[in-house]
Formats: sequence, C-alpha cells, structure tokens
Amino acid sequence: MSSQHVTDFIIVGAGSAGCVLANRLTADRTTEVLLLEAGGWDLSPFLHVPAGEERVIAAERFKWSYRTQPDPTRLGREEQWPAGRVIGGSSSINGMIYLRGSRHDFDRWEQLGNSGWGYDRVLPYFIRSETNSRGKSAVHGDAGPLRVSDVRSPHLLTETFIDAAAGLGLPSIHDIGAEPRLGVGALQATQRSGWRHSAARAYLWPALLRRNLRVQTRAQVCRILLDGKRAVGVEYDCSGRRVRALARREVIICAGALASPKLLMLSGIGPAGKLSAAGVPVRVDLPGVGENLQEHPGILITRAVNVRTYNVEIDPWSMLRHGVNWLLRGKGPGSTPIGHAVAFASTTKNDEPDVQITFTAIGYNPTNNGSLLLRVPAVVLAVNVCRPLARGRVLLRSASATELPIIQYPMFGEPQDLEILRKGALLARGLFESSPFKPYALEELWPGQACSTDEQWDAFLRRAAMRFSHPVGTCKMGTDANSVVDASLRVRDVENLRVADASIMPTLPSANTNATTIMIGEKAADLVLGRTIG
Ligand SMILES: Cc1cc2nc3c(=O)[nH]c(=O)nc-3n(C[C@H](O)[C@H](O)[C@H](O)COP(=O)(O)OP(=O)(O)OC[C@H]3O[C@@H](n4cnc5c(N)ncnc54)[C@H](O)[C@@H]3O)c2cc1C
Repeated sequence: MSSQHVTDFIIVGAGSAGCVLANRLTADRTTEVLLLEAGGWDLSPFLHVPAGEERVIAAERFKWSYRTQPDPTRLGREEQWPAGRVIGGSSSINGMIYLRGSRHDFDRWEQLGNSGWGYDRVLPYFIRSETNSRGKSAVHGDAGPLRVSDVRSPHLLTETFIDAAAGLGLPSIHDIGAEPRLGVGALQATQRSGWRHSAARAYLWPALLRRNLRVQTRAQVCRILLDGKRAVGVEYDCSGRRVRALARREVIICAGALASPKLLMLSGIGPAGKLSAAGVPVRVDLPGVGENLQEHPGILITRAVNVRTYNVEIDPWSMLRHGVNWLLRGKGPGSTPIGHAVAFASTTKNDEPDVQITFTAIGYNPTNNGSLLLRVPAVVLAVNVCRPLARGRVLLRSASATELPIIQYPMFGEPQDLEILRKGALLARGLFESSPFKPYALEELWPGQACSTDEQWDAFLRRAAMRFSHPVGTCKMGTDANSVVDASLRVRDVENLRVADASIMPTLPSANTNATTIMIGEKAADLVLGRTIG
C-alpha cells in the first residue's frame, strides 16, 4: 500500500455522469474532488472524429470487453457488451445520438416513488446541460456545456425515411427529442462543429485547470473503504501500486451500469448470499445490487440501395476527400454520426411508443462480436423495443477486482418483448416497401431470407437479435426492497455513499441513454450540494 490522498469528494469513473459531477462540484473552488478513471486520457483522434467510431469500438484499449453468459432465450448465444474505458467513458465511444427519455418515462420514475424525478422536474437539468444548435426554447438550452447539433450532412435518404414513416401514419415532428414522442424526425447528435462532444470534452476538459480538481487515470478502484456503515474512501490500483484515498464528505460511484454494482459488491455491499458465494465478506446486505438489469433488445433490417452510401466511401481517395472536407468544414461523411433520423411507433396503437426505429445511412450486419461493414451501398433500420420487460443481473465472478463480472441477460424471457420486436421489424420492412423508398430500395440483405410467418420471425430474432448498448438499472433508485439508492441517490443503509450513473435508472427510458445519464449527473450534483432547480 502506498500514498494516501485526502479530499472532499471522490468520484469513481470519468464517464458521462462522472465528468458532469467533476465539473459541477469543483465550480466552488473551495471544494476538492479526486476523479479516478480506470482508462487513459481521450487523446486519440479517432475518439473525436465521428467517422472513427467503428475503429474505436473495435479497439480493445478504449473499452471494457464485457461478455454475457449464454442466453437460454436466444439459442445459448453469448454477446459482447462494450462500455467505454477511457476519459469520457461510453460517451467517448458511443454513437453520439442525442435523445432524451420521454415524459412518460420520467413520470413513471416518479410514480415508482422517486420524488423529484418526474418529467417537469428533470427537464430543467436537460436544459441546463446543453447548448442546442436550434437555440433556446421552452425545452432547449443555449448556455450549457454539452453541444447538441443537427446532423451536419444527413444522407439524402434521410428525408425518404421520414416521408415513408409519415406515409404510414406517423406524424413528422420537428423536434423528436421533445414531446409528444410518437412520430418521426431528424436526429440530433452530441457534436460540436462536426467533432464528437463527449461528456469529457463538454464538462471535464474545461475544468482541468481548476486547482481543486485532481484527475487520476489508469486508476481502477477495487474497493470502497467503510468505517462501520460509513464510506470513508476507496482503494485503487494504479501502475501496479495499491493506493488509498480518503473522502472527507462523500464517495460517488459513477462507474456505469455494469461496473457500479460490481464495485459495491466487491466492497461487501450487495445480496448477502451471493457475496458469500463469491468469497466477499458481507458489510451491508442489499439484495437489489446487480439485479434489475435492462437493455434495449434490437434487430437490424438491412437493405441494399441504388444510391451511394458510406459503405462505398472507404477507398483511400474518398477517405482523403472526406477527411479534408471534415477538417476544413466539419461536414461530409467524416462528420456524421451513425443515426440520421428516428421514428417512434406504437405496435398497440397507444399514444406511448413501444418501438424505436433508427435510420442509419450505412449498411452493416450484426455478429455476436460487433458489426460487419458491408461493401455495397446499403442502409439499416435499427429497431428496438422501448421498454423491455425482461430483467437480467450482474454478479461477481470472484472476489478479484480484475475479473469482469458475470452478466446474465435472458433477452426474450418475457414473450411480450419478442412480440413487440417482431412487430417493429415488420414495420421497418414495411417502410422499405413503401412508395417513398421504392425507387431506391433493392434487395433485403438482412434478414434476407424467408421471414414471413410469426414463427419464422421469432426463430430469426432468437438467432439474430442484439443488445443496443444501453444497459441500466443495476443500482435501481426506488423505495422497494430491491432498490439500491433513494431519490437522493444515496446508497441505502450506508452513509456518505452515492451512485450516480445509468445504473440508477429504475426503468429504461424510451431513448438512447447518454442524454438521460448526463441529466442524472447534473441532478446528482445539485442533490450533493443541497440545491435544486425547477
Ligand atoms: C458502443 C456504444 C454506443 C452507444 N451509443 C449511444 C448513442 O448513440 N446515444 C446514446 O444516448 N447512448 C449511447 N450509448 C449509451 C451511453 O453512452 C451510456 O448509457 C452512457 O454513456 C453511460 O454513462 P455512465 O456514466 O453510466 O457510464 P460510462 O460513461 O460508461 O462511464 C463509466 C466510467 O467508469 C469507469 N470505470 C468503471 N469501473 C471503474 C473502476 N473500478 N475504477 C475506476 N473507473 C472505473 C469506466 O472506465 C468509464 O470511463 C452507447 C454506449 C455504447 C457502449
């Protein structure tokens, strides 16, 4: 054991939420913060060029290569579940889609007993977090750290997708991130002048010169130090040394939905029986830690098209041309995030959508280890269930901090999820068959086979459905016996310890999860400081 650092707050994990907290808590220069991140600095250019995303996701050095256990509901398939392991966390490697949860989502959180988390109460935090390229409005901000922009060079088939969805009865909505949610519209992205705007670039980098903020990279926290039932610090591994840091005020865990429950459990906070089985002495018996894992189940419908897509823009000459365009103007394929437009539909004719269909102007086929880029012009409709009923769990593999946790996720454990995904896939197929797409759509490349009957679709979905990289819920906020944190994000039965990241979401929002996690970071900062807005 070497050196000991004493500070006011220790934040574990410099991801979407951790970066927000590091910035907001150090705004008062008398408050000292130590931010510990297992990954390195976000210096690689590929982390900042939107077109570098595929390369970044393929690289082991920027991610945790979590793998699920064989899924009995999907023919025993195992899957890679990547998560960012770098300053900025998953916001440094994600698809940059900016979409908030809906009014229904947050009002549901409030109804579950989480006072202060209803839509009207969280909206001010979304507004505070962003500078939106569309300017200030009742639902958007123009002075926040995070740049949110329209896609700078949308593919020409983006409008076709919007027209196709409108033709099927979905209203065309100018601001699909606002309310109501049922409809179709162009997407926005976390981008600034065509560059990725991760939580790190938005919140952490502007705070780096503050003398009250210390950031330690390559520091993997292996245990929360407890004095009785009070968190007093952490122990972490850094360059082969075991280091101890103490917090005068609080330890705040922001390690993400797969790592936060693991860290609590390694520290003896979790389901007593399972901790004992893993060889960890129990300090606080909290049965819900690691439970309630949720993820968006999805499927890709890939169609060859007769216009150029980014699949055929990767020869050296095109890359050079697009690189120069991106560098000089911040435009072109180099600047574009993967999703260009999105539709929210209801398979039950309800006013709350249950499927999300994202139009991506690049064709790829899924594999259990990631995506395979096609070499012909193609586009994808990525379909996912908005609020799956299935629940999984994260468990310790052993008492060793270096081992990745066990992830159990029976994706189709609830038949309703399979049914909604099937209906969503049929809807997506229908979009390609509709008159706006007809002049452009060639053969279907994926599934690209006879999927006509429900039985054929279900068999295909079990073989090919995939996660959409939005794990949440494993340190659930709530009031029931399985909740881990209360509405102030304090860990139950432990003093001076909070969790603030995607793991606290009681249910998945009907949207990609980064914007909501950043909102959680904003609200957490106010909860810690005893402030409130809205
Ligand atoms: C490939 C991919 C694509 C995605 N695409 C989108 C998208 O387009 N739009 C969208 O809205 N959402 C997207 N998401 C989801 C979104 O990015 C995440 O929901 C969000 O970033 C989660 O934030 P977080 O703060 O909970 O965790 P993270 O951002 O993952 O941060 C956790 C941080 O903690 C660190 N850490 C973990 N354990 C330890 C430890 N023991 N000690 C120290 N540090 C530790 C990690 O290295 C990481 O930096 C995507 C995610 C992925 C992985």
